[in-house]
Order: sequence, then structure tokens, then C-alpha cells
Amino acid sequence: PADHSGYQRVLLKLSGETFGGGKVGVDADIVRGIAEQLAEVVAKGTQVAVVMGGGNFFRGAELSQAGMDRTKADYMGMLGTVMNCLALQDFCEKAGLETRVQSAITMGQVAEPYIPRKAIRHLEKGRLVIFGAGAGMPYFSTDTVAAQRALEIECQVLLMGKNGVDGVYDDDPRTNPDAVMYDDLDYATVLAKQLKVADATAISLCMDNQMPIVVFNLLRDGNIARATAGERIGTLISQ
Ligand code: UDP
Repeated sequence: PADHSGYQRVLLKLSGETFGGGKVGVDADIVRGIAEQLAEVVAKGTQVAVVMGGGNFFRGAELSQAGMDRTKADYMGMLGTVMNCLALQDFCEKAGLETRVQSAITMGQVAEPYIPRKAIRHLEKGRLVIFGAGAGMPYFSTDTVAAQRALEIECQVLLMGKNGVDGVYDDDPRTNPDAVMYDDLDYATVLAKQLKVADATAISLCMDNQMPIVVFNLLRDGNIARATAGERIGTLISQ
């Protein structure tokens, strides 16, 4: 496998589910813990951009199954991600980290618009950049946006922080104690076996553009630093 030690610029995808601690809303202790990990990593010189999920508030597909119009429900989902961005921004700044939120849906009072070149400038100045509102388009997921932003702002890796699981397994480790974790995977296998990493759009975008993905456990203290340092934790997905 290629040497991924010491990434200079990474894209970290944080799921909303993690932020909610399994509930609707924001679990302050969890967000504080993640912010403190991020402050440490940025202080060491790694440039970090975050794509924020929103599953702790609304998921468009679920609301549409309950009878809502899919596109309206998806916009609600995107707005939810922005609330998570503000929570993360606040705890990061309390941890001494300068941050900027960029939203794909313009809302000037709370976030800058998404301007990729400006995002890169923020990163170069040692600021954490937090991307909210997904792609600003219904029918997309924040996983897909994470892949897209990683490519557009030229990150070397897409880090997918998971909620309590250590990587990608051949079965659900929460229900099957015999599930085995993969150390390495290729994109085609993830797609063929429909492994629960991210949606197919996100995986194929990474496959077509050779963006490596590291899936790891966000809630183990120090893991964000390990992943950004290129330590082999979790599952590495590449060609
Ligand atoms: N969403 C969307 N377009 C995007 C990103 C997100 O419509 O580009 C909506 C979609 O309804 C999704 C919700 O926002 O269910 C929350 O995002 P996601 O489910 O990806 O969050 P996560 O599962 O990572 O917490």
C-alpha cells in the first residue's frame, strides 16, 4: 500500500448521528471532545476541512417515507447540518481553534457562502473550515459532498469518522459478534458487496478520481490525530 504518512490536508466527514449521541439534537460533551481532538491536530500543522452531516436532525429519505415531499425534506436535512456546523464552530473556538463555516445554501448571518478558493486560503492560514448544507441540492448526501469537497479543495484523503465502529466490517458488528473488520478494501468491492461505508455516489466519485478513504472510529480519543498522521487505523479504501 502507498505511504500515506503525514497528510498535509485532509477532509473529515462527521456524521450527524455522532453529534446527537443517538438522539435528536446536539450532545455537547461529544462535540466538545471532537473539537478538542481537532484543535490538537490543527496545532500540529495539518490542514483540516470538515463536511458536516445532519442525520441527528432530519433525513430527507425518512421524512419522505413518512409522507413529506422529498425535496422539501432534503432541504430540511441540509438546514440541520448548518446547526451542527455552528455547534462545532463554537466548541472549536472554545478550544482555541480559528474556524470558518461555509454553507452551500447562502445564509450570510451565520456562514460564509461556499467559495472553494477562499476555503483553501483559510486552511493555509491554519483555520478549520466547516462545510454545511451539503451540496445545496436535494437527492445528495453529505458523504457525496465530502468526496466532492475533498477533490475540489485538493485534500489527500477522505477521513470518514464513524460512530463507535472501528472500520468497515463484512457484517454489522453491533448485531453479529463474528463480523470481521477489513484492513484494506478496493472501491469495486465496497460497491459490489454494498458495504455500509457511504452511498454509492460517494464511493464511485472517489473511485473515478483516486481519492483514498479511511474509515475509522471517531469516538476513540486521539483517533483523529492518528488518522491524519497516516497511522494505519480502521479500513483503508483505495484502488
Ligand atoms: N442532504 C441533501 N443534499 C445534500 C446533503 C444532504 O439533500 O447535498 C439532506 C438529505 O436529506 C440528508 C440530510 O440532508 O438525509 C442529512 O444529511 P446526511 O443524511 O448525509 O447526514 P449524516 O447521515 O451524515 O448525519
